Amino acid sequence: MQALRDLPSLDRLLAGSAQDLTHRHGRAAVTDALRATLDAARDTIRAGGAAPSAAALVRSAGERLDAETISSLRPVINLTGTVLHTNLGRAVLAEAAIAAAVDAMRHPVALEYDLGTGRRGERDDHVSQLLCDLTGAEAATVVNNNAAAVLLVLNALARGREAIVSRGELVEIGGSFRIPDIMARAGVTLIEVGTTNRTHARDYRDAVTDRSALMMKVHPSNYRIEGFTAAVPADDLAAIAREARLPMVHDLGSGTLVDPARWGLPAETTVAQAVAEGADLVTFSGDKLLGGPQAGFIVGRAELIKQINQDPLKRTLRVDKIRLAAIAATLRLYRDPDRLAERLPTLRLLTRTRDDIAAQARRLRGPVGAMLPDHQLDVVDCMSQIGSGAMPVETLPSVALSLRGHGGDAPDRLAARLRALPVPVIGRIRDGALLLDLRCLTDDGALLGTLSHL
Ligand SMILES: *Cc1c(COP(=O)(O)O)cnc(C)c1O
Repeated sequence: MQALRDLPSLDRLLAGSAQDLTHRHGRAAVTDALRATLDAARDTIRAGGAAPSAAALVRSAGERLDAETISSLRPVINLTGTVLHTNLGRAVLAEAAIAAAVDAMRHPVALEYDLGTGRRGERDDHVSQLLCDLTGAEAATVVNNNAAAVLLVLNALARGREAIVSRGELVEIGGSFRIPDIMARAGVTLIEVGTTNRTHARDYRDAVTDRSALMMKVHPSNYRIEGFTAAVPADDLAAIAREARLPMVHDLGSGTLVDPARWGLPAETTVAQAVAEGADLVTFSGDKLLGGPQAGFIVGRAELIKQINQDPLKRTLRVDKIRLAAIAATLRLYRDPDRLAERLPTLRLLTRTRDDIAAQARRLRGPVGAMLPDHQLDVVDCMSQIGSGAMPVETLPSVALSLRGHGGDAPDRLAARLRALPVPVIGRIRDGALLLDLRCLTDDGALLGTLSHL
């Protein structure tokens, strides 16, 4: 076929018009991209198409390379209204944490090195004292995430034995974290007590056998049982566990170091309260309400923490220097709660008032409307969510730009267009409109800049 013979060779392209691409992307990547482009051109020709010019081939290889260069893990603008969005990476870090992480990336750090003695140190020491100061616990340790913390506690303290949990607290957090499954993986026999809606002190007492290893309380993070209910409060459960000479473990889930009620947010048991209520161990997340990087904390009695640290699983779940630096910097911010709402983005976003967001909506209404002339734009009231299973029922009053187009699939089509922007914008669809909840928009210019590519 003549058209196939008309195609320039790979070598000719590399020596000629593809040289600019080679400077930018390197010879190996350009060779691969040109080869793929030539293959596609041959398919087109066999299907009856014409041979593309050398310039067209190079242009299409360039587009291929550009698409490969854009990271799929790239910044997006979160206008979903969910502040701690698990699929969008939960907490955004404080500047102090970012700076600490960057330093740890760039330089050698005294990770497991005691600068006082010049001997080997412990990596957890960089955060354990801070955690103890902030929670009143005797000792603390840190692992990859809270799921890992729960797995490790169960495995280290109850492997081959039984753990007693209320049927009202057998939670599933986002698919693969389910208390019964984690128990099984940790090699622990789950002893369920009580019923879905009511569990009493005697249910726990009656479940104790010589195979019991611990009693556990799990925060019902993403649901609430209402109506005819009874649960055993943490301090009572701690007393029951003490009588039975068993440790009481409290999985707080989100975990917060300062009661959010201080800022007018829904109240939450703090880690310090959970420790004071008598839990022998408390586990919680780093990247939920705490506003730090992904991490799981275990705080509590020194002898139990020691046992946990000696478990071989601990080594497999440990945290790297970059995150440790960010965790320590985040925790240090909590030593000054008065300025926390300025410094910690999670708290700053959660505490934004409806009026502040409404003023932002009024500012943006004109310019955003001008960029989407085919849509009806309204400023509407809506409710933001905290997210990540923190405070599932409570929502925060907020304001959104509501965009309504023509046709039933208009919101889906607009959502797809916004996702395809250089900085993708993620909203949520409600009642046939695409809502852009402005609670988490910290930079009006960034939104307008990316929308200008529509
Ligand atoms: C979120 C949560 C977990 C899991 O924490 P990650 O940090 O996401 O691993 C475990 N238990 C409870 C109760 C939770 O809310």
